[in-house]
Amino acid sequence: MLEGKIALVTGASRGIGKAIALTLAEQGAVVVVNYNGSQEKAQEVVREITEAGGKASLSQCNVADFAATEEMIKNIIKEYGALDILVNNAGITRDNLILKMKEEDFDAVLDINLKGAFNTIKHASRQMLKQKSGKIINISSVSGILGNAGQANYSASKAGVIGLTKSVARELSSRQINVNAVAPGFIDTDMTQAMTEQAKEEMSSQIPFGRCGQAQEVADVVAFLASEKAAYITGQVISVDGGLAI
Ligand code: NAP
Repeated sequence: MLEGKIALVTGASRGIGKAIALTLAEQGAVVVVNYNGSQEKAQEVVREITEAGGKASLSQCNVADFAATEEMIKNIIKEYGALDILVNNAGITRDNLILKMKEEDFDAVLDINLKGAFNTIKHASRQMLKQKSGKIINISSVSGILGNAGQANYSASKAGVIGLTKSVARELSSRQINVNAVAPGFIDTDMTQAMTEQAKEEMSSQIPFGRCGQAQEVADVVAFLASEKAAYITGQVISVDGGLAI
């Protein structure tokens, strides 16, 4: 389905990003596995893809660093001659109540989750406009739709991702470039493992489907949006949350 497409997945060393990288590769895309600090885990993702007969390469880059993202995308275009799919998945949380939230925790979350997506889109869109094709998928969150106590920084960043998605979708629509967001709910990854058992139980009890989601369930929707089957979808936010944001 994605045979020969060149895809960049940010934050693909673990969790949802890893599942997205494996799924895009399984469907025939050449996947650039971006990571920030987890080198061995990212290498393992590349190994898994190549051992399954797919193609992948590794790219270390802090997505919050404007110049570094430019360099990463230049290198991809130099090596492969194209960039067809960009998945902005890299993200962090630094949760705290607003009264206790430190300025640096607000800045770090906005820098990675929102500016990181701006950085890659800014550099990738030049190439996609030249190609007159491309798929951009930004990972937002249910917190960006509903808000969440203790996550003012994270919710703001993820709501920002939605605004970014809709604006860029309008800007790039003349060249048939699809720009969409996926808003996962409560997905079982390192990010949510860090929550207390009580917080996890409280969260699960609010989900209409009564369970947390799996990274693969998000990856399958991303793969659909990256494919020609979703050619007429742009500027949308697709929730993958077991009904949490109904
Ligand atoms: P995770 O398990 O904590 O993984 C985060 C990934 O982001 C890692 O691969 C990490 O790479 C990468 N990353 C962090 N900072 C980075 C940076 N500065 N530059 C490049 N990569 C960076 O998180 P996850 O649960 O899979 O979440 C993935 C995305 O889904 C995030 O955007 C998150 O906000 C969103 N999301 C998650 C949930 C959930 O319930 N899990 C719900 C809604 C939305 P390194 O380890 O190499 O640093």
